[in-house]
Amino acid sequence: MRTQTTIEQLHARFKAQHVTSRNHIAVKCPICGTVQSMASLIKAGAPTDEVEPHLGFSCEGRFSNAGPWPSDKRRGKIVEARRLVRGCDWTLGGLFRIHTLEVIDAEGKPHPMFEVASPEEAKALELLMAKKMGES
Ligand SMILES: [Zn+2]
Repeated sequence: MRTQTTIEQLHARFKAQHVTSRNHIAVKCPICGTVQSMASLIKAGAPTDEVEPHLGFSCEGRFSNAGPWPSDKRRGKIVEARRLVRGCDWTLGGLFRIHTLEVIDAEGKPHPMFEVASPEEAKALELLMAKKMGES
């Protein structure tokens, strides 16, 4: 099912995530389910100065070269190992438009977007990013 939201509603949902900065506002890839933010996109290799348009549009795996997500039917050690890697090569700019959320802009035009992560998911990702940055 596809839901439509206004920019105002979208911002309200982001605000409800209660993350410490806009870099940690989180969305979820419709294919691999990886929760991601501008911080995690940059961590994955996205260019810092042009990361914003990619949030909610291209999965962070595109920047880390994670490769395609294995289908649910696939089994085996290699597939299991792949599923532990964050992200996939999905982008909403491709031929297949699998998405469940559309943001309606001021002109009434719909823009496909990844789902908004729950506040719990957003906070967990912020913690994970803080941990990873401390380690490196
Ligand atoms: Zn993905």
